[in-house]
Amino acid sequence: MRAALYLSAGTVVVEDVPDPVLSEPTDAVVRVVRAAVCGSDLWSYRGVVKRAERSRLGHEFIGVVEEVGAEVRTVRPGDLVVAPFTWSDNTCPHCRDGLQSSCERGGTFGAPGADGGQGQAVRVPWADGTLVTVPGGPAGVDASLYPALLAASDVMGTGLHGAVMAGVTEGSAVAVIGDGAVGLCAVLAAGTILGAERVFLMSRHADRTAVGKAFGATDVIAERGEEGIAAVREQTGGLGVRHVVEAVGTPESWAMAVGMARDGGSIGAVGVPHTAPTLPLFQPLIHNLRLNLGIAPVRRYLPDLVARITAGTLDPGPVFDTVLPLEDVARGYAAMASRESIKIMLTPGG
Ligand SMILES: [Zn+2]
Repeated sequence: MRAALYLSAGTVVVEDVPDPVLSEPTDAVVRVVRAAVCGSDLWSYRGVVKRAERSRLGHEFIGVVEEVGAEVRTVRPGDLVVAPFTWSDNTCPHCRDGLQSSCERGGTFGAPGADGGQGQAVRVPWADGTLVTVPGGPAGVDASLYPALLAASDVMGTGLHGAVMAGVTEGSAVAVIGDGAVGLCAVLAAGTILGAERVFLMSRHADRTAVGKAFGATDVIAERGEEGIAAVREQTGGLGVRHVVEAVGTPESWAMAVGMARDGGSIGAVGVPHTAPTLPLFQPLIHNLRLNLGIAPVRRYLPDLVARITAGTLDPGPVFDTVLPLEDVARGYAAMASRESIKIMLTPGG
């Protein structure tokens, strides 16, 4: 089969690799129908994070189950499934706490030694605990829902996690820092799922702003830094917002999050802090801010997200503005790295 491989910073190729096979009785082999390029894939592409040469890429995919191991009970061949970006047994103490991202037997697709989503098929460990089936299967689910289901594998669950950690409640006001796919999904989650009344989106890119507004952003703030903080405060009677989602992970975005949070407010942070090794804690302490950071346990949210998407009440699909065949994955990385594209969807099945 064909799969994307990382060669070096700036170089991604598609080559022939061995077909995946069942290696544990709890495994499934999934034929990939749609896969995505994630903002986090770009850290190694840009050379900020080291990655092994010729390692598999991608951790966001939906597909059809081809084969299951002898101990797999809830997933059958022919099922249409969504995989969260980490696999989990869904039974260990962390999983029972709803922290499947900390699963004792867990791992991440595209990590060293694992299959990646950016290929034609994937070996999925702990298939019962990991995969969520889509009712109706490939014959009963319209392909127009595939982008939304694919978004649920990471960015929609991650955006929702940020909004949940920020404590967003019915009728509240929230600010979202970051207009990438995760930030845009946080906007959608805050309004559509959690019932926020006012959603500020910090964005100055017309294409991203348009998606943000369609997802329910009520106020778009183009200013950054101190000016961005002042703009949000001005719109909230000088008080700031009770809920802030931080979806970037840089010192600058954290300074904005702390600066625009109302005293006693909460920041939910999902931006991966590759370039923010330290966080000044004086201001958060003086203003009684709650700082909640976390990689999203997408599996916890996935059944609900899939139900909403198939019911037609949630559509994060518009975060994908570009569709490419798997063979053109290199073009997709380049387009996302230059911010020319918000998010790439790949069609490994052709
Ligand atoms: Zn577990």
